[in-house]
Amino acid sequence: MKSVRLEHVTKAFGEVTGVEDIDIHIRSGEFFTFLGPSGCGKTTTLRMIAGFYFPTKGKIYFDDRDVTHVKANKRNIGMVFQNYALFPHMTVFENIAFGLEVRKLPKKTIKEKVERAQKLVHLEGYGSRKITELSGGQQQRVALARALVIEPDILLLDEPLSNLDAKLREETRVEIKRLQVELGITTIYVTHDQHEAMSLSDRIMVMNKGKIQQVGTPQEIYNRPANRFVASFIGESNIMEATVLEVGDDRVTVEVEDGLILQGWRKNASPNLTFSKGKKIFLSIRPEVIEPGEGPNSFQGTVQFTEFSGVSINYLVKTAKHEWKVMVINTGSAIPSIGDRITLHIPENGIYFVED
Ligand code: ATP
Repeated sequence: MKSVRLEHVTKAFGEVTGVEDIDIHIRSGEFFTFLGPSGCGKTTTLRMIAGFYFPTKGKIYFDDRDVTHVKANKRNIGMVFQNYALFPHMTVFENIAFGLEVRKLPKKTIKEKVERAQKLVHLEGYGSRKITELSGGQQQRVALARALVIEPDILLLDEPLSNLDAKLREETRVEIKRLQVELGITTIYVTHDQHEAMSLSDRIMVMNKGKIQQVGTPQEIYNRPANRFVASFIGESNIMEATVLEVGDDRVTVEVEDGLILQGWRKNASPNLTFSKGKKIFLSIRPEVIEPGEGPNSFQGTVQFTEFSGVSINYLVKTAKHEWKVMVINTGSAIPSIGDRITLHIPENGIYFVED
C-alpha cells in the first residue's frame, strides 16, 4: 500500500482555478475523504491523483515516486466512478476481468482472480449475468470488484454511493468500510455528504472554492472547526456574530444580542483566531450542547417549533435577534408547546469561537 503526497498542487483550466495550493499527505492504508460542496475541487484533485489531469503547479508522489506527469495506466490505481462506467453489453465476469485482460494475464489466473474478487463483494454465482440484469447496488459492487481485482496500490472512489437509494447507500457504505479495513488499502473517497465522510474516514479534507479549509479526523473537524465554513458545513450548528466584551486569561465574554451575554473558554477557538475588546467574532454552538433549565450562560426564549424524533426532541427557540436550534435527548419528560417561554443554558465548554 502506498502513501500519497500532494505538494502545493494547483490546477487551472484557462482562467478558472480548479484547485489552489493543495498540500496533503495521505498515509499508507488510510481512508481519506475529500469533502465539500459542489464545485469545490474534489473531483479535480482526485483526477490529478488518478493521472487524468496533470497539475499546473506542484508535485504528486506515491511513496517516494514522483508521479506528477505519469499517465493514468502506469499508476496502478483502482477507480470507481459515480456512474460506475461499466460495459453494459458485457457480463459481470467480463467487466471484472477487463483490467486483467488488458494486462494479458493467463486465462487461468484471470479466472481465479475474478472469482476471488466476486467473492469479496458477495457476487459469487453472478459471473454470467449481464450488467443490465443487475440492481444498482449490484452494479456498484461489480465496479468495486473491477477496481480491486488488479490489486491496486491506491483505491479512488468518486461519489460511489450517490446513485443508490438511502437503504442501499447505508448497506454499501458498511460494505466499503469492511473491504477497506480487510484489505488495508489506501483509499481516497470523494463526497459532498458529511455523514458518509464522518462514518467512513480516518481523516477528512474539507474543501471550499478550490482551497483546503481543514484536514483532520472526523472528531477534530466536528469538535474543533478551523473556521466558520467548516462549522456550518459539518453538522448542525448555531453560528452567530458576537462582540467581545472582555478577554480574560482563561475566559472570553461576548454579547450576541442586547443583554444576551455568554462566556466561553478562550482555548475553544479556531487556531488562528485572536481576541480583543470590541472585536466582532463568530460563535459556533452545537444544538446538542444547549440544555433546558438554569445554569451557566442561561437565557430565556420562546418556543417556535418542536419535533419529536424518538431519540431526541428538536426545538427552535427565539430570542430578540436569533433563532436557536436546540436538541435534547428524550428522557420522557413533557415537551413544551409552541409559544411557551423556556429557559436554556449553555455549558462554558459548549461555546466555540470560530474564524470568519
Ligand atoms: P462536484 O461535487 O459538483 O463534482 P467538485 O468539488 O468535484 O464538484 P470539480 O469538478 O473538481 O468540483 O470542479 C472545481 C472547479 O473547476 C469548478 O469551478 C469547475 O467548474 C472547474 N472545472 C472542473 N473541471 C473543469 C474543466 N475540465 N474545464 C474547466 N473548468 C473545470
